[in-house]
Amino acid sequence: MPERIPETLQKRLADRLGFYQDLGIRWFYRERGKGAAPDVARRLETPDVVQLSTIDLQRETTLPKPTGKLALQKVALVVAPVKIASLPVAAGPSLFEAADRIADDTLLKIRENLGECTRCKLHSTRHKIVFGDGNPRAELVFVGEGPGADEDAQGLPFVGRAGRLLTQMIEAMGLQRQDVYICNVVKCRPPENRQPEEDEVSTCSPFLLRQIDVIAPKVIVCLGAVAAKTLLQTNRGISQFRGEWLEFRGRKLLATYHPAYLLRNPPAKSEVWKDLQKVMAVLGLEVKKGKSS
Ligand code: URA
Repeated sequence: MPERIPETLQKRLADRLGFYQDLGIRWFYRERGKGAAPDVARRLETPDVVQLSTIDLQRETTLPKPTGKLALQKVALVVAPVKIASLPVAAGPSLFEAADRIADDTLLKIRENLGECTRCKLHSTRHKIVFGDGNPRAELVFVGEGPGADEDAQGLPFVGRAGRLLTQMIEAMGLQRQDVYICNVVKCRPPENRQPEEDEVSTCSPFLLRQIDVIAPKVIVCLGAVAAKTLLQTNRGISQFRGEWLEFRGRKLLATYHPAYLLRNPPAKSEVWKDLQKVMAVLGLEVKKGKSS
């Protein structure tokens, strides 16, 4: 006889499923066999797929120019096919693979659905929700961990010390902040800048997923382990896959160190710059002379 689920658990499951349904997540898949990990970061090394990546890179060479001010320098894209590596991921069903894309979704609708969110305990200590900021049609999205004190006060992502460093990094790439989109895994500040907890991440990250789907960037850069582990659903340390091209829902994803880590460990900046140069190559941005790897 099938095992009976206790009533309290049934209710919690029903609530949770209702919540995911509100977010447009309708399909859930059972894990196939014990220990089988969902292949979120799929291996894309077959000749066919590599060929597709090459075509993709050559076709899409423009970045949106929301301000009209920027004259981005493009390089001829004679690039080797981007190899997208595999990443063994944690066992357990992947929320993200299960999520449908919501038809006609917009950032505005996502923001409205988020509302004055009280879904997790972070709401009780936050001042402002930090939804995200930048070009809604950006080819490049940066995903951080969660707001700090400055972000919580202003309602904008990456506006403190780490944010200033991120801005410098973006400008070093030949871009402006308004060319890219910047957001976080959790939209409310964790107290004392602690890492967001599992329930907070799982409650908030569906909104991130929708943001990424709506923006449809060419490249996602995860800043730090929390963003990378969340999107890739992996428990591996970031240093094991930092700087490698991975795939997230059909998009190129690269994880690099968080700017806050760079403030504590400036020598790691050169590693991050190498990673960003890879991103620049994919986006067709020229590395200016004097900014060598
Ligand atoms: N650190 C983050 O991860 N996100 C921010 O918005 C600010 C600091």
